Amino acid sequence: MESGLKDHAELAAIFNKDENRVDWHDETLWWVRQKRDKMAHGLPGWEALREAASQIKDNVLSNLNEYLQQFEVNAQANGIIVHWAADAKEHNEIVLELLLKNGIRKMVKSKSMLTEECHLNEYLEQQGIDVIDSDLGERIVQLAKEPPSHIVLPCIHKKKEEIGDLFHIHLGTPAGNADPQLLTEAARQHLREVFLTRKAALTGVNFAVAETGEFVVCTNEGNADMGAHLADIHIASMGIEKIIPQRKHLGVFLRLLARSATGQPITTYSSHFVKPRDGQQMHIIIVDNGRSIQLGREDFRNSLKCIRCGACMNTCPVYRRSGGHSYHTAIAGPIGAILAPNLDMEKYADLPFASTLCGSCSNVCPVKIDIHQQLYKWRQVIVQKGYTTTAKKASMKLMAFTLSSPAAYHTGGKVGRWVLKHAPFAVNNKFNPWFKQRDMPEPPEQSFGEWYNENRKK
Ligand code: SF4
Repeated sequence: MESGLKDHAELAAIFNKDENRVDWHDETLWWVRQKRDKMAHGLPGWEALREAASQIKDNVLSNLNEYLQQFEVNAQANGIIVHWAADAKEHNEIVLELLLKNGIRKMVKSKSMLTEECHLNEYLEQQGIDVIDSDLGERIVQLAKEPPSHIVLPCIHKKKEEIGDLFHIHLGTPAGNADPQLLTEAARQHLREVFLTRKAALTGVNFAVAETGEFVVCTNEGNADMGAHLADIHIASMGIEKIIPQRKHLGVFLRLLARSATGQPITTYSSHFVKPRDGQQMHIIIVDNGRSIQLGREDFRNSLKCIRCGACMNTCPVYRRSGGHSYHTAIAGPIGAILAPNLDMEKYADLPFASTLCGSCSNVCPVKIDIHQQLYKWRQVIVQKGYTTTAKKASMKLMAFTLSSPAAYHTGGKVGRWVLKHAPFAVNNKFNPWFKQRDMPEPPEQSFGEWYNENRKK
């Protein structure tokens, strides 16, 4: 963690100040997790589907260059213009160039975590381009000048009263009115005007099919379709890992995606973009931005299987009670904590430690990424590279010494029990982060070792 920046624990402490918010954030995401469980259990062969998805992605990761080239050839044959971007900077520059070349200064954008990762909105705004996010949740956080806190539910951290206030200021809804139906209708009217007047639309890509050169965008609101169909230029941004070999593989991924994300049998709109309509330009930007480095990290390459369903966030007890913004990166939660250190190990050194390693994330992941194992492995890499805090380094050294020396271990245990019994104020204070949220244990009269030695003699 770079000095001066707040880490996950500090940012989580800010989120935790509003207990009421933490409680419903936790409960709402758990409710989504339960919907996912119901769907998963109701589909015969769920585990076989997960296994199939995982194996398809294994194939993709082992032959990524070939599938990407195949996709490029087929997409070009369909009339799509293909661009390659090595990093976020190149991606943003390509988008800007396309807009300027066509004299466009206003763009509508549907949800794309890749553009969040590239900080596209900030970049375009600095260049005088007006970008409007058309996904309702994304639009809410955009009006609030905040990043999304969840990859599927971007404004899950916001109370409806806060959204009512935002809409009152920006969209002129009645003051103090937080009726979800009224707010949604106001957003609908506002966005309709945007759709009709923007000449360019940017969408993300959920899946790109190498065999056909088409790409698929999944939304529940139809906003990606509306933007892309009305605009003169459709720009689609995709990470290199979004490729799948054949169209038939969509049958596996589409069944897993919506069920894992929100507990729906299928996303409301799964739109296939194959070629531009007459007179329209269709561009696709294929972005690396650190992914090929992650591909080369043997222990972490499987993280590129991710289909961004968000299930690992909904189930994670740490995410649910610390909020997405505490991860200070575009993709929060367990998967974000694996992806972010690849981009900047020092800046995101705190994230792999923001986990109980309970393994619930790995259990729900539709593409069977070994998420908790990778978090554990990142911890080892980060410690070896020296990116932990001085306090953590010192405490780990002390712990290593204590656990490797029976004499130090027994003495430490005795001292600990004595302190808990006779001087509890030494540990029950605000300097002990464990005590802040939990009761300290009652000290036993003797250690297990002492009890065992005594009873063995008998
Ligand atoms: S890691 Fe797995 S569970 Fe998490 S978002 Fe990606 S696909 Fe979904």
